[in-house]
Amino acid sequence: MKKSLKPIRLKWKVFGYLLVFCVLLLGILWLFETVLLYDMYKFIRKKEMNSAILQVEKNIDSDSLQEIFDILNQEKEIMVNEANEMKPAAKVRPEGFKKPRQESLTRTKDFVKADGTVMTLTFHAIITPVDATVATLRIQLTVITAIMMILAVLLAFLIARHVSKPIEEINKSAKELAKGKYDTEFSATGFLEIEELSGTLNLTAGELSKVEGFRRELLTNIAHDLRTPLSLIYSYAEMMQDFPDEIMPEQTQVIMDEVSRLSSLVNDVFEISRLETGEQTQNLERYCLTDQLKEIIGRVEELVRRDGYLFYFNSDAESESGVWINADQVKIAQVFYNLLLNAINYAGDGKSITVRQSTEGNYVKVEVIDQGTGITKEYLPYIWNRYYKVDKNHKRAVTGTGLGLSIVKKIIEAHHGTYGVESEPGSGSDFWFRIPKLKA
Ligand code: ADP
Repeated sequence: MKKSLKPIRLKWKVFGYLLVFCVLLLGILWLFETVLLYDMYKFIRKKEMNSAILQVEKNIDSDSLQEIFDILNQEKEIMVNEANEMKPAAKVRPEGFKKPRQESLTRTKDFVKADGTVMTLTFHAIITPVDATVATLRIQLTVITAIMMILAVLLAFLIARHVSKPIEEINKSAKELAKGKYDTEFSATGFLEIEELSGTLNLTAGELSKVEGFRRELLTNIAHDLRTPLSLIYSYAEMMQDFPDEIMPEQTQVIMDEVSRLSSLVNDVFEISRLETGEQTQNLERYCLTDQLKEIIGRVEELVRRDGYLFYFNSDAESESGVWINADQVKIAQVFYNLLLNAINYAGDGKSITVRQSTEGNYVKVEVIDQGTGITKEYLPYIWNRYYKVDKNHKRAVTGTGLGLSIVKKIIEAHHGTYGVESEPGSGSDFWFRIPKLKA
């Protein structure tokens, strides 16, 4: 890549632009005020004479013709003579009188009067010499140029300070942020863009600090989740080694339970990181969602029957015969599993769980309704975030990484669906998702 030029400081750039602007402005002024002044003046005089001729032409039969001549003479310095009168150029001058460098534009024109007689008039428009004016203007312009240069420098520094100071402030805060100080406040003001940038950076800092918080929490959770099963597995294995004759199925069961707890944790962490990096592709296939739901409910029921959970499945009349979808079967299963397992985990004493399937236009809606602990309104917006757990105190009875619902969210979003929850603390939750269905 070509090495770019070293960037220059804003104030020098502003100064450069201002300087160019001033030079252009002054150049144009010089051109018009000095070089072109005489030509322009002559041009204007010519126009004035033309309009004088027109005025005379209009009033050639009027009695006030002489008055018009006088006005032209006084106001416009245009003398009008009848052709046979003596022309000013031919005026006799006293001896030794130096002819002033006074020019005049002269035009002679015949005017036909109403009675048919022809009146020949000569127009003299006096052209005053502009040399003296030009000299004055030159001096003035020199002074103006000097003033403008000083003003340009001052203005450049003022503008640059006004613009670059907030940028420098933001830069300083951003460096703090980069060091990991997430509570850095971006407060630069001055103009709209900078205020917007400050706002955006404050938001970014907020998000970064949230992510950092989540990361710490996840690490604590994972460390906790790993430590307990690992130590359980270790002590049971140790026991089995010490007393090989007394191995009981309950002991092996504990080991198996803890291993499966560990693997589900590891799977969750893997799954979310794969979903987040977008590594996974979807394996879309057409299949019957209703059958899938019933099968999963059957399997889960089998697992938790001992604990007294009751499952109900119901569907509206339209979807009773089965709803078909075009989706990734494994992923939809994962969504449903996560919702069902949450319903079980947070069931409290209300151990009946209802799964409801219904159709809404081109969509099918699946609800998992429990009668458990419910969720307080203030937490509702956050439960779909990664690593978010309402109950920060890790209860052993409830295993969770805080990833389940964010996996649900990612998968449903990838299927162009929607998801949500209605929840009442104390009386239970209704978690639902809605995805497009195939036409029956
Ligand atoms: P976890 O692995 O902690 O269950 P989730 O992402 O599945 O993580 O859920 C996030 C949080 O939402 C949970 O920690 C829990 O507080 C709350 N939650 C999820 N499902 C339910 C439910 N059915 N009833 C009550 N709270 C729930």
